[in-house]
Amino acid sequence: MELTIVLATNNEHKLMEVRQILPPNIKVLSLKEAGIFNDDIKEDGKTYKENSLIKGKEIAKLTQYPVIADDSGLEIAFLGHKKPGIYTKRYSEDMGGQTKTNEFLVQKACRTSIFFNRAKFTCVISLVNYKGKTKTFKGIMKGKISKNVTGTNGFGYDPIFIPEGYKVTVAILPQETKNMISHRYHALQKLVKYLSKN
Ligand code: IMP
Repeated sequence: MELTIVLATNNEHKLMEVRQILPPNIKVLSLKEAGIFNDDIKEDGKTYKENSLIKGKEIAKLTQYPVIADDSGLEIAFLGHKKPGIYTKRYSEDMGGQTKTNEFLVQKACRTSIFFNRAKFTCVISLVNYKGKTKTFKGIMKGKISKNVTGTNGFGYDPIFIPEGYKVTVAILPQETKNMISHRYHALQKLVKYLSKN
């Protein structure tokens, strides 16, 4: 099966990871490659799934190809139930950028018990307009917030997130390792399984 799909994101890192994770028979077009210049989608859903579907459906109006959209976020126990969660991107913007946010969070982690340092990444991938159908797939990666900002691989919160079963942050791990354990990997695996059967 050969398939071309459009990824509804302007995030270069997500694009790169999705391309690395998906098998070569699934060709992923960026918005630019699909001739779509839309960076103004209002993500006002209440869940990852709703936001992922909002993005996917908006972009699907602009292309004949099936669309996949990724909505993801991080939940950290010491910030409260499901926080920042679907507001993860806005949280780092409000804190003055990713670097400041990561610094703030590791300092907080230093003053917090292991129990409240636990954290979890979630990714929901929606597949829109594939043979007339729309489906969503969820993946998670559990772990904890580190006590230092370390590593340069990956993006976003990777330099402060230590996955369960590892001793270093995702940003220290090789990209290939992240791509075998991440929330995005787990969601995309479910997508691939679905596509292979439908
Ligand atoms: P979205 O673009 O609305 O899905 O926002 C996702 C937020 O979670 C952004 O702040 C990203 O930096 C962060 N995020 C999502 N996935 C990852 C990841 O794999 N590593 C680090 N940060 C991530």
